Order: sequence, then structure tokens, then C-alpha cells
Amino acid sequence: MPTALNPDQRRALADRVRFYHELGIYDFYRREDNVARTESVPVEAAAQVATSFQPELREEMSPRKSAVLAKPVDESIFEVLKTKPEQSVTDPMAALRLIREDLGDCTRCKLHQQGRKQIVFGVGNPRADLMFVGEGPGADEDMQGEPFVGRAGQLLNNMIKAMGLRREEVYIANVVKCRPPGNRTPERDECDTCSPFLMRQIAVIKPKVIVALGAVAAKNLLAINAPMAELRGRFYDFMPSGARSSDPNWQGAKLAVTYHPAFLLRDPRQKGEAWKDLQMVMKYLGLKPPAKETV
Ligand code: SF4
Repeated sequence: MPTALNPDQRRALADRVRFYHELGIYDFYRREDNVARTESVPVEAAAQVATSFQPELREEMSPRKSAVLAKPVDESIFEVLKTKPEQSVTDPMAALRLIREDLGDCTRCKLHQQGRKQIVFGVGNPRADLMFVGEGPGADEDMQGEPFVGRAGQLLNNMIKAMGLRREEVYIANVVKCRPPGNRTPERDECDTCSPFLMRQIAVIKPKVIVALGAVAAKNLLAINAPMAELRGRFYDFMPSGARSSDPNWQGAKLAVTYHPAFLLRDPRQKGEAWKDLQMVMKYLGLKPPAKETV
């Protein structure tokens, strides 16, 4: 029987799996025989699992694309490694539909029983070069089943327009797909449970640039805990963890961080800063603003 890991252990191991993915290693094999089984695994043990392959990795930045993870490991950790249904199709629209079907009437985290009206999956061009990711649906989004449709959505539309694009040309999604009650910030376990579906959406869409809207989205996508002032103003290389694109030529996206439109509504003085972030993205994508260069 697999040993259940506590949340810290799961995170340590999941971080390790992400690390392997960033190295381009996707195939894992379980070694049954050389790790003593224990009833519970201390965090140090999970870290040991995580670090014990460093020499192998150092030696072989070679084309080998597999690694060995020792037991004991919670089976659910390997969820991220299973072949996903969307990998069998090449049409991104069909692939997104398969992800939505896989999500189903999701009850995977507690947000399903905290008043959501519907799941807000994501909207836009399945072949978008530019993708926006927010933290979670609000009341309007929950009502309409589409991300960023309230006042913050209007401002996001204006931001997109100022970049010389139409809303239909980009893709918009959130880290969590169900409305947190009272618009509270989604909790860590909710983000951890829901974000694999976002990662799969990203792997299908293969955007050139992702703009994380606000600190929650940025921290979840980048797994960095830093204030907005430090997160903004630069590009990050981003590969969706735990999700493999069907296109082996896709080398990941550039990720930029800017303020959430809801924050900009509360503090319009920061719009100029947000515009700087968007200009950085426009420059990378070769976009020209239509006329007036302000958000
Ligand atoms: S937030 Fe995501 S994981 Fe949680 S119930 Fe909704 S769809 Fe499922």
C-alpha cells in the first residue's frame, strides 16, 4: 500500500517532479527494492528522495529523458505524470474540450461546495500567442461562466485593446475555476488542486507570452513567494509543470507579471506601471498600440 504523505511532503515531492519537468524529464519509474518502507515519511526523507538523484543529473545533462523515483510515494503525486486525454489530439479546440470534460462537475477541492454557481473554465483563442491568468472567478464570472466579465473584466478588455488586440484573440483563465466565497483569496490547497488543469490548458494553447494578473496568479505560476515590486518588470521562462505539450517544438512561454485589474480599479495610480508591463509584452510580441497609448 502506498504511504500517505502529509501536505509538506507532497509539496516537496511535487516540487521535485516539477524540477525534473523543467529539465525535460517526463518519464519516471518506481524502484521498489532499495528504500526501506516506513509507516510515515519525514520531510527529510522526501527531501532525500528529491536530492538523491542530483549526481545522476549533474552527470547527464545528456539526452536521457527519464529518472527513477524511489518509493514510498503517494500515488496521487503520479497523477501529473499520466498521459492526458488531450495529448491524443492536435486540434487545440478539441484538446481544450477534452480537458473540460476531464474536469467534469469537479468536486476535487472544497470550493465546489462553497457556493459556486458554475465552473469558469477559460475563454478565448485556443491558438492565442498571449494568455492572461488571474486568480479566480468573482461574482459576475460565477454568474456568467466566463472569466473577467465584471468591472475588472472591462478594464482587462481595455488593456487588451490598448495592446492592439481584441479579447477574442487572447486566452483568459484563472488559477482556480470556482469562485472563492466572498471573493476571498484562493487557498494554497485549492490552487494546488485546480492549477494542474490550467497547466494543461497552457500546454495545449502554447502561448508565446503569459501575463500573470496579480500576485496570487504570479506566485502560483512561478512558485515564487515575492512581493509584486520584485515580480514585475522582467520576463520569466515558463513551462507548465506536470503537463506536456503535444508539440515537441514548443519551448515554453515567456511569463510577465502585472497588477490585477481589480487592484487597478482600487488604485488607478498604478495603471501607468501596468502599462509599462504591457509594453514590455507588446515589444516581445511585436505589437503596436492602435492609437492612444494608455490603459
Ligand atoms: S476550484 Fe478547481 S479543483 Fe476546485 S472544485 Fe473548482 S474546478 Fe475543481
